Amino acid sequence: SGFGGGQRRRRGPARGRDLRVEQVLTLEEAVLGCKKEIEITSPQQCSSCEGSGAAEGSDMKSCDTCGGRGQVSTARGFVMFTQTCPSCRGEGRIIESPCDACGGAGWEEKARTVTVSFPAGIDNGHRLRVAGQGMPGGRGGPPGNLYVDVMVEPHDRFERDGLDLVCHATVSFPEAAMGTELEVEMLDGSYHRVEVPSGTQPGAVITAPGLGAPDVNGRGRGSLHVILQVAVPRKLSRKAKKLLRQLEEELDLEAAQ
Ligand SMILES: [Zn+2]
Ligand SMILES: [Zn+2]
Repeated sequence: SGFGGGQRRRRGPARGRDLRVEQVLTLEEAVLGCKKEIEITSPQQCSSCEGSGAAEGSDMKSCDTCGGRGQVSTARGFVMFTQTCPSCRGEGRIIESPCDACGGAGWEEKARTVTVSFPAGIDNGHRLRVAGQGMPGGRGGPPGNLYVDVMVEPHDRFERDGLDLVCHATVSFPEAAMGTELEVEMLDGSYHRVEVPSGTQPGAVITAPGLGAPDVNGRGRGSLHVILQVAVPRKLSRKAKKLLRQLEEELDLEAAQ
């Protein structure tokens, strides 16, 4: 339309609003991936009027206030002010008689369950987008999205550092001195053998590449780090003390050579 013509604003059906929820996962669930049923209470399209807001058999009629233009003009002195019609909110049409169930809104509060797949490797603070599970759109518009913010519970044995998993293990003084093997129970319940070399010092870190968390986008895996502690006995028998003194003498001799 050209200048001066009755320009009518074309409004497409509005897209529904996005919803945001939080979901707590265990470290196992986050690293291995999982599916969760999430219950969401949100406005849903009214089942009585199927979202139209009109009572059954009732139609839309042209708005009387604006004559269907969606805008009203008022003269103040010599100036015309044009504003969005307050009766029809600019749509140009109103409902003849509103739906009883929703009072004409076209939606009602409903609880629903959404099954959400959390990919393996998802981490604390990640936000997952579930397309089309937000609020319904207005009058046939597309629905919004559901955003799930992930929170991962602390684990009793493992800490996560980026893609790496960190755990602690304790070996005895003879094991640290002579070397040993450890079996570390992984998050999936499998066991991984870790070689502790002879002469291992307290606080030493043994790294096993590829045993950490997977990258959520499939770009490789992190490492497992085992931090070793060396246990010192708190109580010693007379015999143990005697043996330790002998060992000490032997070690002193070796050091002197
Ligand atoms: Zn309704
Ligand atoms: Zn109107």
